[in-house]
Amino acid sequence: MKELLYRTLLEHRASLDKREYSAVELTRAHLCAIEEKNGELGAFLTVDGEGALVAAAESDRRIARGEGRGMLEGIPYSLKDNIAAQGLPMTCASRILENYVSPYDATVTERGRAAGAVLLGKNNMDEFAMGSTGEHSAFGAVKNPHDPTRVAGGSSSGSAAAVASGMSVFSLGTDTGGSVRQPAAFCGVWGLKPTYGLLSRYGVAAMASSLDCVGILSRSVLDIGVILSVLRGKDPRDVTSLSAGEKSELREITSVRVGVIGGMDGGCVSPDVTLAVERAVTALTALGAHCDAVTLPQPANALAAYTVIAATEAASNLSRYDGVRFGSRQNADSLNALYENSRAVLGDEVCRRILFGIDMLSGENRERYYLRALRVREEIQRSMRSLSERYDIFLSPVAPTAAFKLGTLPSKDERTYADMCTVYASLACLPALSVPMGADQNGLPLAVQLCAGFEKEPMLLFVAGLLTNQRGEGRL
Ligand code: GLN
Repeated sequence: MKELLYRTLLEHRASLDKREYSAVELTRAHLCAIEEKNGELGAFLTVDGEGALVAAAESDRRIARGEGRGMLEGIPYSLKDNIAAQGLPMTCASRILENYVSPYDATVTERGRAAGAVLLGKNNMDEFAMGSTGEHSAFGAVKNPHDPTRVAGGSSSGSAAAVASGMSVFSLGTDTGGSVRQPAAFCGVWGLKPTYGLLSRYGVAAMASSLDCVGILSRSVLDIGVILSVLRGKDPRDVTSLSAGEKSELREITSVRVGVIGGMDGGCVSPDVTLAVERAVTALTALGAHCDAVTLPQPANALAAYTVIAATEAASNLSRYDGVRFGSRQNADSLNALYENSRAVLGDEVCRRILFGIDMLSGENRERYYLRALRVREEIQRSMRSLSERYDIFLSPVAPTAAFKLGTLPSKDERTYADMCTVYASLACLPALSVPMGADQNGLPLAVQLCAGFEKEPMLLFVAGLLTNQRGEGRL
């Protein structure tokens, strides 16, 4: 059964259609891998073996009748635990939602189900998607499959670890400021944050609504394209969702202009990551693309704006978990004590951000910080729009280093700069992809980030595919 793991979605598709193995066999193989590895890695919070096998058997029947529902039919996958799946727990890795079972499907879950995808279970994450290490889960840290003494990244830590360790063919996560791209980079898988609104947010627990995106983690860039095409499209239940429509014409790689972003990292980037970016530049140049160095406007301000906007929106979104409207209710002898006790189960990082967010919205701080952050964001959006007229693709690190040791949060500077490489695309609502780019001398995955213009996913995936092929590593 082990030989069924680590293959790409497209390889499984071909084999399932040729009936080389069944969806039930494929699902069993993944459930066995979860059984074997999840104790150590902590990538899944919920495993729905029974539900997955029923769905797989239905897939097999449809495939046998020639009534398969398309590319995802019979493919086992998993969801970050802040994306709703009917009848399954959705904890957001928080004690406050420990006993919550979702009564409905998120739109992406519903679309996956309608396409015949087989849901294995729910992935661990940083509590309410706040963090970059996977250690801020109320239910234990996720470990990196390449070295379990290291973090898997965050906040979609469980999703990345599940795909990297062969427990899942692909996973859906969420990315507000880098939470799909950074764990994908640390675990050596592909991770796409699409254009804001391309995938519906309906049924996804909000962190910062104007930045939150559902993202895809998978084992090949072609798989990402396939999954995106099945799940994308207008959703009347999410007013910010975009209609499906191709905005990007594919061109010869020789006419592609790549802006290589420098100076966004404050000098914190490790030699290995710098080398990975250089290797990508060499490969893209060899393919015939034009690479120029570019500097983005206001790197330090971008991060500050992200921090303020993300915290203020999170404070507002998380006010619903009060033990009355949402969240488990703790015993108390007064109303205030009820709120207090119920909210006391939230983790430190979540509390810190709620308090910071409320402060940023209070009194004069609203004008001084929050409104100013919104203006910085507008400025960044304007500059990225104008830079996108000159460049098709932006190339940068995803994170300054490879995965670091558990329990050793990098220095404050490194932590700050870690998000600096990813928040641009988030603030500007642009699609960005973490592309595996070899390994360091310890065998830890390295990656680079490609970013493209608004709704230019086809261009992004096209260039990423050529880049991987040229490097002769990773899998198209
Ligand atoms: N690491 C970032 C943060 O902690 C990103 C979070 C996210 O994208 N959900 O804010």
